[in-house]
Amino acid sequence: MKGKQKMTMQIIPTNYPQNMLSGGLVDGSPTFSALGYANQLSGADLIKIVAANRLRGRSGLAQPVSDKWQLCAAQTADNKLVVVNTIDGDPFLPAAATLLAKNPAGVIEGALIAARAVGAAEAYICIDEAKEETAAALTDLLRELQADDRLNGCKFDLIAVPAKYVIREDTALIAALEGKPIMSGLTPPMPAEKGFQGRPTLIHHAETFAQVAAIFRQAARGEEVVQTRLIGLAGDLQKTGICEATTDLSLRTVFTEIAGGMPEGKKLKFLQVGGPSGFLFAEDGLDIVLSDEAFEAGGRWLVNPSIVACDEATCVVDYVKQCADFSEKAACGKCVMGREGTWQLREFISDMTAGKSKNDDLAMIEEISQGIHTGALCPVCRSAGAPVRSALEIFASEFDMHMRRRRCPTLVCNKYVTFHILPEKCTGCGECLPQCPVHAIAGDDGLIHVIDQDVCNYCGICETICRSNAQAVVRAGLIKPQTPAEPIPVGTFKRRPGGLGGLRRR
Ligand code: SF4
Ligand code: SF4
Ligand code: SF4
Repeated sequence: MKGKQKMTMQIIPTNYPQNMLSGGLVDGSPTFSALGYANQLSGADLIKIVAANRLRGRSGLAQPVSDKWQLCAAQTADNKLVVVNTIDGDPFLPAAATLLAKNPAGVIEGALIAARAVGAAEAYICIDEAKEETAAALTDLLRELQADDRLNGCKFDLIAVPAKYVIREDTALIAALEGKPIMSGLTPPMPAEKGFQGRPTLIHHAETFAQVAAIFRQAARGEEVVQTRLIGLAGDLQKTGICEATTDLSLRTVFTEIAGGMPEGKKLKFLQVGGPSGFLFAEDGLDIVLSDEAFEAGGRWLVNPSIVACDEATCVVDYVKQCADFSEKAACGKCVMGREGTWQLREFISDMTAGKSKNDDLAMIEEISQGIHTGALCPVCRSAGAPVRSALEIFASEFDMHMRRRRCPTLVCNKYVTFHILPEKCTGCGECLPQCPVHAIAGDDGLIHVIDQDVCNYCGICETICRSNAQAVVRAGLIKPQTPAEPIPVGTFKRRPGGLGGLRRR
């Protein structure tokens, strides 16, 4: 998906001092000033403060955090557990990874405050089993804090889990912790009532805990509490990486002022906000505020504030096909709408890019998206239809072009383009010829190679091969470049009068 390769952990400066990314550390040492303040308050008061600040869970359902705390605190069991989820589902927003790299103490501090609020004496930090270095650093930090008696009497353990997208759902995370197949489970009972091994289990993403610490840190200093969010910036932007910004900024402000807008020479086509199952916004929709409340007021949901910018060369149909593909792979397969619905959605959109769509496919896409939204067992798949539905609202004519006119205006969808070798650029290296699966390329050493358009199946392999070479293979729509009828020596091609090509349909 666009921007994936460009995702970095570079921290981009914003409108507010770092609240979560460095707020709990002074000269590299944890201050735990928030915890010190929280320790003077009762559990009920801590919950009241979180409720008063209307803190909502990050990287999940965006539920009020105080609801979960209240439910867990109300349980009478004496073996309650706090779980820190550090698995980042959104490929464009490595929030937990960044927090663990920049301010792990802030995450631990937030978890300790939550443990005090609900009456838990044990905490787990769930960490991607592939991130051995992070786990080792966290182990060292916890050992150090334990030795200094700074863990409030709470016992911390690290648990390695596979980094699956579905783990953003609390019941799936519990399944992973218990060594069961990683699938979402039925609720109620909620994990805060009956979670890991039947114990009341309070689960939040690392960013939620970091924000808890930030809230109490500001309260301890007598400051007005300002909440911030981590925002992922990827794709066609001047600046890509992660930023921490206040929750009152519009998408336009983040796009233009923080990310610097589009790179020179590129024009925005759309922004996708909220990861691979997020909504698309065109230029005229960027004034929405980047907060859960503002999105919900507009009938959308934010999930994760990651922003991927796509320029005009992006095919929106191909883009939402990749989103649907991501959602289908992310589904754990437990429920029918999540499993079959995401598969069908992907198939219908793929058909549009492959010249196979039928007239009623748009209605089917709408019906399936709606069905997944209302019928999926858990939130993981519920928003799978958001990219295509929002894309249809903005780019209806581009979908129509693919479906009825069998054209891709950006020349991205292989089925709607022809491939040609530009005679001025071909060096006759011969690398593409043996790789063509249908032997459509003619040529020899030192000869300009030629593609037989009657044989080519538009796989694009020769384009990929030549991309790191002479970049001689090009795509064409209605207008085709002039090429020799058969291989001729490199440097001998003479263009016919009349420019690059003639209007000729394939
Ligand atoms: S919606 Fe269904 S298939 Fe998708 S993750 Fe949840 S339980 Fe699994
Ligand atoms: S099209 Fe590219 S890879 Fe093929 S012979 Fe020409 S320069 Fe080489
Ligand atoms: S696009 Fe595929 S089939 Fe066509 S010439 Fe290139 S490699 Fe051969």
